[in-house]
Order: sequence, then structure tokens, then C-alpha cells
Amino acid sequence: MKIHNFSAGPGILPHDVLRKAAESVIDFNNSGLSLLEISHRSADFEQVMQQARSLAKELLELGDDYEALFLQGGASLQFHMAPLNLLKNKAAYINTGNWASEAIAEARKVGEVNVIASSEDRKFTYIPTKYTIPIDADYLHITSNNTIFGTQWKEFPQAEIPLVCDMSSDIFSRKIPANQFSLIYAGAQKNMGPAGTTLVVFKKDILGKTGRNLPKMLDYELQYKKDSMFNTPPVFAVYASMLTMQWIKDNGGIEWIEALNKIKAKTFYNEVDSNPMFEGTVEKPFRSYMNGTFVLKNTAVEQEFERMLKEAGISGLKGHRSVGGYRCSMYNALPLESIKVLTNVMREFANKFA
Ligand code: PMP
Repeated sequence: MKIHNFSAGPGILPHDVLRKAAESVIDFNNSGLSLLEISHRSADFEQVMQQARSLAKELLELGDDYEALFLQGGASLQFHMAPLNLLKNKAAYINTGNWASEAIAEARKVGEVNVIASSEDRKFTYIPTKYTIPIDADYLHITSNNTIFGTQWKEFPQAEIPLVCDMSSDIFSRKIPANQFSLIYAGAQKNMGPAGTTLVVFKKDILGKTGRNLPKMLDYELQYKKDSMFNTPPVFAVYASMLTMQWIKDNGGIEWIEALNKIKAKTFYNEVDSNPMFEGTVEKPFRSYMNGTFVLKNTAVEQEFERMLKEAGISGLKGHRSVGGYRCSMYNALPLESIKVLTNVMREFANKFA
């Protein structure tokens, strides 16, 4: 039976990427050797790293004033590494959910943090629109997509200070004005590749301002001077991420994937809004195109719904353990067909129980 993978992360990857990545584990580039058993300094792998870095910048339409790195430690390390590299006097943060709160807590270990807006008052069901950005802050940090609660920034803050963004759960899913950001980071395991690497893209002129003597591994400048290969990189995760970026490019680029993602999200939310059994959990203008959160109005029939989901091969729809309900993660590689299977089940369920 075909399984429809709605996992929130690690999430679905394109089948062709998985197949090619799997082949590379046995025989990489017809070399007779596995990708996992060759030197990361070999010409073949150096080309993979170079290609991955260049595709990331190409998909974000960034020029030579930006660098792209593939580091380790997940987005969680970036919560601390970004302030280590950028925070001198104080930083401004907007709190839109669990991950933003984590970023704030880690930055506070480095220096002064002003939380200039938060949506915690209404359980993170919206994105704040009223805030004043302090012009004397070193940077403003936001989280573009709130993976757990299902909200997403549709328009980004117009900041005179450097804008820093955690894009872990919506990187490469839509066209964004990437050159308005000074630093973007994203764990690979949702829209880009397997867990184990984190994309970090930054404008070169933001570095070197804190005077901090950083550990080598945590220094963006050193990492880029070493071409993202200061130490042994996570070769498999970088290779699979490179294949996914190439897949986006070959199919028509960000415009193509954004159009597909919009159709998927529209199909899903239309069902939620018209189906008497369900309701969405976040305010409509801020609904995420990546993680659609919803609840069953009558939990007495929850088991019936779960049974129907299972019968249809729908996997990974449960909401995050901290919020409950359901979460329809619609990452880039999820086909429209999977959304249709889900919405059909929702309709059939309503026909039986409404
Ligand atoms: N930020 C966001 C928006 C996330 O969704 C996640 C993880 N799911 C993280 C950060 C943490 O990422 P990691 O596990 O790579 O540290």
C-alpha cells in the first residue's frame, strides 16, 4: 500500500533523491566506492560541497556578497552560534512559538535580548504585526515558519538592522526576498535533506564585529574561509541536500515548487474550512503552507478518524506532543495526490459522522 508521509520532520524527500542517495552509499559516481568511505577531500566530494553551496545561493538568488555553509549541530546550535557571531550590545527577537523561544533562551546566554513582540498571549496562533524595531540592536531574529503551531510569516519585517531568520521548516518552499536577510539558517531535515546538516547563509559584511574570540567550530568566518570543510563534513546529508536542491532546480525552481505548495495548502485548508468535523487552529492570514494544524471538533469519534487515516495509508498526521490535534505537514516533496487522499478521508469521515 502506498504510504502518504505527513511527517513534520524529518520529513518526506523526493523519491528520486532517496534512490540516488541510496545508490551513492554503494557506488558513488561509478567509482566502485561508497560515498561513506571516501575522503571528504577527494575531488568528487569537494565538488558535491561546492555544488550544494552554490545551489543554495542560486535558489535564494543571492550574489557574491553572501556565503552558504553546510554545518552540523542542527538549527538548535544556530540558536547559540548566531548570537555568538553577531551579538555585541543587544539583539531583538520576535517570539512566535517554541523554536523562537528556544532561540531567545540561547541568545540570552550570550548577551542582552529584547523580545519586541510575541504571540504567546493567544497561544502562538498568529504572527505579530505591531512592533518597533530598535535601530540600535545588532540584529532582529524571526522564525519564518512555526512548525509546531502552524503559523508562517507572509511578509517579512522591514528592518534597518540586520535581519536573521530560522527558516528550518520552510526553506526553498517559496520565493523570498533573501537579500533582505543578513543571516538565514535551516536544519536540513524538512525541505532539504536528511538530518545531520544545517544550511547557514549569511552576508559577509555582518561578521567580525563582536570582538569575541570564538571556538573555531563556532566561527562563521573560519568556516567559510575553510570552504565549509574545516573538519569532516556530514557527507551523506550534504550530498542528499544537494540532490534535493538540484531536484527543485531541474523541475522549474522555486516558482514551480511555490505554485505547487500553494495548490496543496489551498486544497487542504478549503477542506478544513468546509468540513463540519474539523477546525483550523490558527488565524487565517497567518496559516502556514508547510504545517497545517487542525483539530477534530468531536473527539469522541477520534478513534474512527484514526482508523480511516490508517486504512488510507496516511502516516505522521498527529500534532506535536505539546499541542495535540493534527498537523498536515506539506513539505516540498509531498505530492498533491497525498493531500487529496487526506481530504477525501476527511470528507468521507464527515459523511459518516457529521
Ligand atoms: N527551528 C525550527 C523552526 C524547527 O522546526 C526545528 C525542528 N524541528 C528546529 C529549529 C530545531 O532543529 P534541529 O533539530 O535541527 O536542531
